[in-house]
Amino acid sequence: MKIDVYEDALGRDYQVGYLSRAQLDHLLTNEVFYYDNFAAHTVLPEEQSYFRTIKGVLIVIAYSPAAYDYTVKKRAADALLGTLGPGDRPITINFKAAALLAGMGMRGYNTLVWSTRFAFDCKILAFGLSQKLDYRAPTLPEYLPICADCLLCHQNCPGRAFDLESEERFAPEKCSEIIGPPIRTEMAKNTDEENEEFLAYGKRRGLIMCRECQSCAPCSLENREQILDRAGGQT
Ligand code: SF4
Ligand code: SF4
Repeated sequence: MKIDVYEDALGRDYQVGYLSRAQLDHLLTNEVFYYDNFAAHTVLPEEQSYFRTIKGVLIVIAYSPAAYDYTVKKRAADALLGTLGPGDRPITINFKAAALLAGMGMRGYNTLVWSTRFAFDCKILAFGLSQKLDYRAPTLPEYLPICADCLLCHQNCPGRAFDLESEERFAPEKCSEIIGPPIRTEMAKNTDEENEEFLAYGKRRGLIMCRECQSCAPCSLENREQILDRAGGQT
């Protein structure tokens, strides 16, 4: 089966890629070092038998400029409804590492995946597939080539979450200490009680982020073409 089927079903607000069974195994059995708080993903015991049936993984990157967008996964699943088989369903893996393995983007110094289609304005999802796909991953450098001369995200980070000296380079728990404008806007809609719950949930899931490090001009979507030219990859 060709990946175009999924591309057509999802439309232009999505980018699709694919992991083979061997790549999925690599992701699950090797601790792919990736400096974020979800580095080592373990399949939950109740999911293990399902993971054994998967023949490959559809990686979907959705255009999502909003800081908070809990509807992305549902929208993608709805759009894929006619193309997913009965054994196919959303799965949780190390999304960033998966997107990089599928050749869909490059790592930024801010530890995010810069999608070749949507820059940092995106969310990554994955669907377990019961069939193999015909897919050739684009070749790209692992890191965004412009980061070496920039480091703006590091300089702009109010939480001092980047530590140039440490091996991990990034301490995501520090993000939770900063309640930035996107979160404040979200919280203004809630009661105090709801906000307490919202903050507790967000901190647990690593969702409390000011996102200053995602809105730096050099790596914005507007500069996509120049960045891709500089990366020189086959996309
Ligand atoms: S702000 Fe600069 S260093 Fe940070 S991810 Fe963007 S290009 Fe890379
Ligand atoms: S979300 Fe905010 S605190 Fe966290 S790394 Fe980015 S800029 Fe720093």
